[in-house]
Amino acid sequence: MSCIFCKIINGGIPSHKIYEDEDTIAFLDAYPAGAGHTLILPKAHYADVMNTPDAIFNKTMSTAKKLAPVITKAMDADGFNLFLNNGRAAGQVVDHVHLHILPRNTQDNLKIGLPQKPYGQGEAEKIKQSIINCLRENHLDREKIKEQIKQNAPQGKISCAKAFELAQLYGISHARMGESLNQLKIKIVKCQLGCF
Ligand code: 5GP
Ligand code: ZN
Repeated sequence: MSCIFCKIINGGIPSHKIYEDEDTIAFLDAYPAGAGHTLILPKAHYADVMNTPDAIFNKTMSTAKKLAPVITKAMDADGFNLFLNNGRAAGQVVDHVHLHILPRNTQDNLKIGLPQKPYGQGEAEKIKQSIINCLRENHLDREKIKEQIKQNAPQGKISCAKAFELAQLYGISHARMGESLNQLKIKIVKCQLGCF
């Protein structure tokens, strides 16, 4: 494997390792943006977020969450940035998924803020809609929904909160949710329907 981080993990390239467990590892960034700038990554090679299994990504995030306050304290810092660059356009240089922890001080004068501006008139609504449409295309798969409902409502009943959560997850309108639930003979009491 030619990946530079895999070589570091295998000991082929030296690094300043600060933490290691069964699945994840953390070492100092060789070109730090500040003292204590640390990279946290899965030991197994996954190119980016979308290629990383949820369980592994969650473990990596959990390691970062554990380490961040410790590194912050060790660097006598006031806070930290936790970030990830995914894809070239986002600044990813090494194609082995990794999180950055960058300790921050109130007076460090680092400018990593992005130039932000408010949306124009009606722009946010259009953008929201196009994202929701994409979500529907990706997730409005009836078989998947049925499976989810079956898992969450084995006795044919579903809680208001769970119904709401599923509806949100799949971008389902009230009517569509009702339809799916009927097909599966799942009851939602009238007051529950009021949630949508
Ligand atoms: P990315 O831009 O892909 O999110 O971040 C890659 C990071 O890896 C950069 O911050 C860079 O400084 C760091 N890096 C690149 N090569 C090496 C290396 O050989 N060793 C270490 N420890 N860090 C590296
Ligand atoms: Zn790798």
